[in-house]
Amino acid sequence: MNTDKSKNPKSIIQNPKSKAVFIDRDGTLIEEVDFLSRIEDLQLFSYTAEAVQLLKEDGFLIIVVTNQSGIARKIFNESEMHAIHEKIQAELDGKIDAFYFCPHLPNAGCLCRKPNIEMIEKACADFLIDLENSWMIGDKKLDIETGFNAGTKTALVLTGYGEKTVVNLEKRPNLIAENLLEAVKLVVSGER
Ligand SMILES: [Mg+2]
Ligand SMILES: [Zn+2]
Repeated sequence: MNTDKSKNPKSIIQNPKSKAVFIDRDGTLIEEVDFLSRIEDLQLFSYTAEAVQLLKEDGFLIIVVTNQSGIARKIFNESEMHAIHEKIQAELDGKIDAFYFCPHLPNAGCLCRKPNIEMIEKACADFLIDLENSWMIGDKKLDIETGFNAGTKTALVLTGYGEKTVVNLEKRPNLIAENLLEAVKLVVSGER
């Protein structure tokens, strides 16, 4: 008796949900700059485009989730931030699927500022996302905690604030990597 149902195409149930990588912006996707507001100060890492390409080839949605309290602090306004996101998109050939941002102060009590998960919930409303097979990658403890809170896997990068973060983590992320590209290589190769 042939019990191998996978040979019958009708029995293959496709998961309609996509895996996603939620990526922190400052210090992870781009160089850390205190309250980045000017396009002239925007600098992608030399490997950012390669990392993004590898994720796309592996079928990940790429979603940026970023705390931008500089808006509430009136250091820059939303349109200046959007201009920076448009420039990032242009440099990455439009490969970022979406950007979500929290404009509030850390003590505002909002639900969107990481490590809260409203940005991820919004992404899940906009895309069909398989959170269990998704990742949160960032350089701060609050990024890793966002992943824990949302139920994704987590990766800490040692760029940006990563070196400071790694010494005072209470709960280890699934992986710690030198930078975004090294993290992505582990994500796409091991899928652990
Ligand atoms: Mg960061
Ligand atoms: Zn917020």
